[in-house]
Amino acid sequence: MRYLFKDSNKVFKEAKGKYLSLFLDCDGTLAPIVDTPDKAVIPRRTKDLIIALSRKNNCSVAVISGRSLADIKKKCGIRGIIYSGNHGFQISGPKLRFTRSLAASYKKILRGIKSILKQRLSGIKGVLIEDKGVCLALHFRLASRDSLPFINSVFRQATAFFTAENKIIVKAGKKVMEVAPADGWGKGKIVLWIMAKQRSALKEKKIMPVYIGDDLTDEDAFKALKGRGVTIFVGKPGSSGADYYLRGTREVARFLRLISGLK
Ligand SMILES: [Mg+2]
Repeated sequence: MRYLFKDSNKVFKEAKGKYLSLFLDCDGTLAPIVDTPDKAVIPRRTKDLIIALSRKNNCSVAVISGRSLADIKKKCGIRGIIYSGNHGFQISGPKLRFTRSLAASYKKILRGIKSILKQRLSGIKGVLIEDKGVCLALHFRLASRDSLPFINSVFRQATAFFTAENKIIVKAGKKVMEVAPADGWGKGKIVLWIMAKQRSALKEKKIMPVYIGDDLTDEDAFKALKGRGVTIFVGKPGSSGADYYLRGTREVARFLRLISGLK
């Protein structure tokens, strides 16, 4: 894994003359991580860069998030770009609309897990259960360190049977655990789906995907784009499967500014 700014000339050379399909995770990539998801803010200058990029005719921007579609749209507040919410269960953008349907049995399981988590974790400070319709998220960024083993074991107990039965999958993120449908639909599939739509609209033009993300769920997209474009992990370089890394949200903004100047 290489530091992107050491290799950026090579990346820009590769991008020349191609249609740039930019995929951006939100939390930890555009917006710095904060205590609770509602407090996360994308800096104004980052938003302006996204707007500038989306207005270029050789570039598109998609924000790919685990947040619900309504939530991520509100958080960004930018028109004319592609949004994917709830780990890809909803996608919307210019000439793009997609919602995956959910089995009634899955919804029932989700309700059951939610009620167990609510009951057993109601006395624990700093725990937030977020029902996103398609997914259920358990946030514990504000919980005390001592309570983490208990929170973890309650979550495992509530979900173990259904994961074993392959009815749900559990996604672990930064200070969050999530329940999602076990149908193999993740950030990798979403990115390939969006690119396929773009390819048929653009005909001959070559697409170069650039994906930037900081979390475990982004690894799925890094894998899907291996050898097809540029993948960038945000954070300390470690076990990520991305080609490059950037150190934080400020460096992501710096990179966006550099590519917004590309012809
Ligand atoms: Mg993230």
